[in-house]
Amino acid sequence: MAKQKAIIIGAGLAGSLLSIYLAKKGIEADVYESRGDLRKIEAAAGRSINLALSDRGIAALREVGMDKYTLAEAVPMYGRMIHAIDGQTKHLPYSGRSGEYINSVSRAGLNSALIEEAEKYNGVKFCFNEKCVDFDCRTGEVEFEGGRRIKGDTLIATDGAGSKIRNAMLRGGVPRFDFSQKYLEHGYKELHIPPSVSGDFQMEKNALHIWARGAFMMIALPNFDGSFTCTLFLAHTGENSFDSIMSGEYGKAEKSLVELFKTNFADAIALMPTLIEDFFANPIGNLGTIKCFPWNVGGKSLLLGDSAHAVVPFYGQGMNASFEDCRILNELIKSRGADDWETVFTEYGKQRKENTDAIAEMAEENFYEMRDAVADPIFVRKRELETKLEHNFPDYFSKYSMVTFREDLPYLEAKNRGNAQDKLLMEICSKVEDVSEIDLSEVLEKVKAIID
Ligand code: FAD
Repeated sequence: MAKQKAIIIGAGLAGSLLSIYLAKKGIEADVYESRGDLRKIEAAAGRSINLALSDRGIAALREVGMDKYTLAEAVPMYGRMIHAIDGQTKHLPYSGRSGEYINSVSRAGLNSALIEEAEKYNGVKFCFNEKCVDFDCRTGEVEFEGGRRIKGDTLIATDGAGSKIRNAMLRGGVPRFDFSQKYLEHGYKELHIPPSVSGDFQMEKNALHIWARGAFMMIALPNFDGSFTCTLFLAHTGENSFDSIMSGEYGKAEKSLVELFKTNFADAIALMPTLIEDFFANPIGNLGTIKCFPWNVGGKSLLLGDSAHAVVPFYGQGMNASFEDCRILNELIKSRGADDWETVFTEYGKQRKENTDAIAEMAEENFYEMRDAVADPIFVRKRELETKLEHNFPDYFSKYSMVTFREDLPYLEAKNRGNAQDKLLMEICSKVEDVSEIDLSEVLEKVKAIID
């Protein structure tokens, strides 16, 4: 078989990991990235600085030997720390089993490490400041700004949620191309809690902090340097929205912001000396779900990662799902061979689409869980019950655990089993005042009966 060459568009998280997978298979990869080399430039301020990495992502990194390196630079988060409006906190573990937790990693650090690793392979070449502008679905040629056109044996588009390759498929390149894009009414803005003067974390280090306030919320993830990156989720318009804060001149906007924080995030504002500067300097990001199909144009091209299935970030699974994409594509190349891209891509789409649809739906639902339910006593009791079940019965997995810690379980299965369990446990918890009143073995039997 002649040596294959793949063109990868986008050297983000998925594209750089994918290039390593391909190189390990002896497939050459030329990776074209519209931005400069992020190892040489400062990360753009206010753009999702840290991400939660969990077992699906770790499994994909493990196969290329990048898991240990990544985890050495991560901050483990063992649970959600819920901040009540009066400043009281409550820790809800992610799992009742020890060893099951998620990891806060630096986006730029991980992306740089993957590029660095990929460059160790002779077959991988990164071309920065090369913006793809179009793709010819008939010929498989890709066009860059300036008019240069190139073609490989195949092309894989990892150019994120605004994919130019997907746009070309949508604009008539692929007949009957299904496409949907759904924006959330909420946007996000990144804010900052610095380390203390002595360099320590100013809140519990090993937790994902949540200030759930019904119509809006804030979360904070720890960084390796003792700081936290906070993400404020607010509606774009209406009461308590980005519009309601930003409307009016600077002084008035500043006052509305401080008022919102003093009323709703009083314990956090005390730790945010640069709140006002950060808020007005950082961009407002949009949040949405993108679904489309088919993902391939014969064997000429494939959409992978956010270009195929961007999800809202409330399950912390977008990157994990994109890494899982790479692992599954690799398995198919292994079993089908790298000279029949069409079969590999078609099979990949068949296996993967229902699962990425499932995580997209769960991620949207989790927004409401994080925003509203974590402040609901029945939900808090349900989480306590699940933690107890996981602690006492090693084969019990909550929906969250199935999604986050079971890379062997497809997302769709996690969703179906998880939803049935959730319904039952919420019902049980609505009838008691305290979880200690519940007979755990009886619950487990009921769970087994609905799942089997
Ligand atoms: P991207 O990371 O977007 O990379 C795309 C790359 O393509 C970029 O480098 C871009 O510059 C390049 N590019 C774009 N257009 C072109 C072009 N025309 N030509 C050439 N190059 C191009 N996921 C998690 O798993 N856990 C989390 O905790 C988490 N938190 C998140 C929080 C927020 C606020 C957001 C917005 C997302 C979060 N995600 C999280 C999702 C995660 O960021 C994405 O799923 C992930 O980045 C997808 O990787 P990707 O490589 O497909 O796309």
